[in-house]
Amino acid sequence: MSDGPALAIGIDVGGTKTAVVVTDETDRVLYERTVPTNADAWTDQIVGLVRETVAALESRADEVLGVGLAVPGHVDSRQGTVRMAVNVVRDEVALAAVCQAATGLPTVIEHDARAAAFWLYRRDRTPNVAYLTVGTGIAAGLVLDGVLLRGATGLAGEVGHVLADPDGPICPCGMRGCLEAVAAGPAIARAARERWATDPSATVLSADASAADVFDAARRGDAVATAVVEMAARHLARAIRGLVLAFGVDRVVIGGGVAAAGDTLLAPIRRELHDERKASGLAETALAGTSIEILPPGTNAGARGAAALAREAAVTAPAAAR
Ligand SMILES: [Zn+2]
Repeated sequence: MSDGPALAIGIDVGGTKTAVVVTDETDRVLYERTVPTNADAWTDQIVGLVRETVAALESRADEVLGVGLAVPGHVDSRQGTVRMAVNVVRDEVALAAVCQAATGLPTVIEHDARAAAFWLYRRDRTPNVAYLTVGTGIAAGLVLDGVLLRGATGLAGEVGHVLADPDGPICPCGMRGCLEAVAAGPAIARAARERWATDPSATVLSADASAADVFDAARRGDAVATAVVEMAARHLARAIRGLVLAFGVDRVVIGGGVAAAGDTLLAPIRRELHDERKASGLAETALAGTSIEILPPGTNAGARGAAALAREAAVTAPAAAR
């Protein structure tokens, strides 16, 4: 290629799955792969995946200009570190430096929800967008006026730990009643199991129902499952209202494992917001022009966003400094 290297590797490390993509400068996906996350050997797995991906590119391996890592937890993208990713890592890891030293490729790191928000902004040219990931945990990535929001602490967008129910359960973070503790995948599964325990004959769900089982049962009209989905949707709708009012975004995109439920999740969220708009002129003003979407499963927004961030870093950094 006469324009020089233009490929970037993006890796999105989730609590259960890790997605790898290679994209070119037009965001076309040239390579895509998903593997189970190895939580016991996290950094080794990432380094191994980068090497395998470069090898898979064969004659185009020289065109790779960098690596972007999208990870959950408290990410400091300036220092290239991550800590407190509840399901994956607890101690601070200088992940960008480790990956860069092991692979020889410039590496950037970003919070997974922020990487996805950046990708949506770049792809669709929507400068005020929130990406709300709902899976094992809940977090938001925010782009405001075309700038990715990180904040002073690097915790901007951690809406999963904003109070949703003062009487709710204790969250894995230690605080009580967090949004994550009442509306993330494990919370949906737990709420269903609790209802099953009080009357097993009232539902097709079983004692070991997963969040996916709950959405399946709701789709088939199970009343208990439907009530659990509506409970989660109500909490998520309030969070969306908060994002729209606090930040002025006019587009909210829901992704993450729970988003695989598609319309079964989106429809009750939209109903909830519709009711709020009918009841409040302010809600109507804030939400009327706001697009609420759900990301199709398998979109790999975090990995593609990480690749886009790696490409941007490579383009803006002087070659001599790399
Ligand atoms: Zn919490």
